[in-house]
Amino acid sequence: MGRLVMKFGGTSVADIERIRNVARHVEREVKAGNHVAVVVSAMAGTTNQLVEWCRQAAAVHDAREYDAIVSTGEQITAGLLAIVLQDMGIPARSWAGWQIPIETDGVHGAARMTHINGAEIVKRMEQGQVAVITGFQGIGPDKRVSTLGRGGSDTSAVAVAAALEAACDIYTDVDGVYTADPRIVTAAQKLDRISYEEMLEQASLGAKVLQTRSVELAMVYKVPLQVRSSFEPPDSPNQNKPDGTGPGTIVCDEDKIVEQHVVSGIAYSRDEAKVSIRRVKDQPGVSAAIFGPLAEADISVDMIVQNLSHDGAFTDITFTLARKDLRKAIEVINAMKSKVGFDDVVHSADVAKISVVGIGMRSHAGVAAKMFKSLADKGINIQAITTSEIKVSVLIDEAYTELAVRALHQAYGLDKK
Ligand code: ADP
Ligand code: ASP
Ligand code: MG
Repeated sequence: MGRLVMKFGGTSVADIERIRNVARHVEREVKAGNHVAVVVSAMAGTTNQLVEWCRQAAAVHDAREYDAIVSTGEQITAGLLAIVLQDMGIPARSWAGWQIPIETDGVHGAARMTHINGAEIVKRMEQGQVAVITGFQGIGPDKRVSTLGRGGSDTSAVAVAAALEAACDIYTDVDGVYTADPRIVTAAQKLDRISYEEMLEQASLGAKVLQTRSVELAMVYKVPLQVRSSFEPPDSPNQNKPDGTGPGTIVCDEDKIVEQHVVSGIAYSRDEAKVSIRRVKDQPGVSAAIFGPLAEADISVDMIVQNLSHDGAFTDITFTLARKDLRKAIEVINAMKSKVGFDDVVHSADVAKISVVGIGMRSHAGVAAKMFKSLADKGINIQAITTSEIKVSVLIDEAYTELAVRALHQAYGLDKK
């Protein structure tokens, strides 16, 4: 008998009717003989509303209270799903993260799970009870609720699956992982399989279908992971495909993927900002003097471009960072002005990062060149570039995001025939 963790995202539990639909998916798996634990998100829009209320209460607020508030959305859906399951005659019990407990490092708003004690859940599952667990949260060493960062229920689900030695199905509003966000590229194709490495890059480069950390955990703990749709009817014959490909997309080791593409997907992120520091001295120690204080302020920098200095004395340094950190970064940079010495600092939040991802890049040349040519053909200017073994990313004007993603999708032959 298999153990299975089923995770349902916000749109899948957006109202009572959808929660009933979710319960029917759970019923199917229980009837198939699985021992099931469910991880739920808050109803679509709820977490945004809770975050907004915190902001309205005070622009700068206590992170512990933020967590006390934003964790409540998941408590509602967990309780509601347990009630609906019970009403259908399926034994079920809701569990908040602290009750299990799911222990975290206690970093409020961005906590990491450190340990999950699955013993009680396993005992109940073996007695035929479905555990309905709140996603997105655990309990820190300070004995307070801590949340895992936006989109964190994916990570809760994979961590629970690892702790229970279960497989993990992530149910969402699309039926799998596509070659690009299907909401932007109508010609995008669903992938039957994607490697952990590629999914990790896709997620960290903006494909929010899975939270990055969830893919990391699945890769480390070898959790069998599938992304599938909660909107496919629960009793559809497509639910359990006999060929083992699954109705959705299986995230797995690359050696399990038969058909390899050079590029498997295009990702984009609008969560970017750009900062340029003009006329800094072109001498050893300047970069350290700039990026040291930024790191100390917990600001992660992504792309860095240093211009060639014409006179050998001064240069410009440009870098990108998450848009949410822009204000803080400017404060940090202004505070270092007299020590570092520069003319001025300019910034822009109207930028987007577009990335092409594929493990085939390891053995194929010309992927980056094709990207630059496709963007040039559309008249799109590239402001910065970064590469890794399996991805090329460029920074462009945000207004061209969709045009760029579609053009690249076509250029790499990913469009649906
Ligand atoms: P949930 O609320 O279920 O967690 P999310 O909104 O977090 O759902 O993630 C699902 C969304 O991810 C989809 O609606 C889709 O627009 C987006 N997405 C972005 N890139 C991709 C991709 N490559 N494949 C599938 N979905 C993607
Ligand atoms: N409800 C949380 C969010 O909106 C966690 C999640 O749904 O994954 O970020
Ligand atoms: Mg999500």
